[in-house]
Amino acid sequence: MDLRFRDPQTRIGNLADEPILVVCPRCSRRATVTPERLTCAGCALVRVRSAPNYSVWNGPVDPFFREPLWLRADCCGGHTLWAFHERHLDLLERFIAAKLRERGLGDDPGLTLVARLPAWITAAKHRDEVLRTIAKLRATLS
Ligand SMILES: [Zn+2]
Repeated sequence: MDLRFRDPQTRIGNLADEPILVVCPRCSRRATVTPERLTCAGCALVRVRSAPNYSVWNGPVDPFFREPLWLRADCCGGHTLWAFHERHLDLLERFIAAKLRERGLGDDPGLTLVARLPAWITAAKHRDEVLRTIAKLRATLS
């Protein structure tokens, strides 16, 4: 694991450029969401997003259909750790695991995903539990 983490300037909205993993509202297996549609390989459910509603980016649901994310787990006493997909999980893991976290050099580094993580995730005392939870979530992807 690399000890140094340089903020790649990813913003939460950038992560929606690949399908987001959610719990299928019909069969509870893993389904995917894009800004246009929800599809489930398990039960063949397809839902099209008709009138674009206000998208929600700051909780354990997908921003477009607001279905529960597949990658979400209780963590650190009452908090919920969540990620859209494996790339999001990778980003969180590299950030939490790094000993040295460098802020990015972008125009507004305060707005990047890692810069906006809640304090409980970045607290040193929670590091091991957060990493364990990330590993547990990753195991559900295989
Ligand atoms: Zn399904």
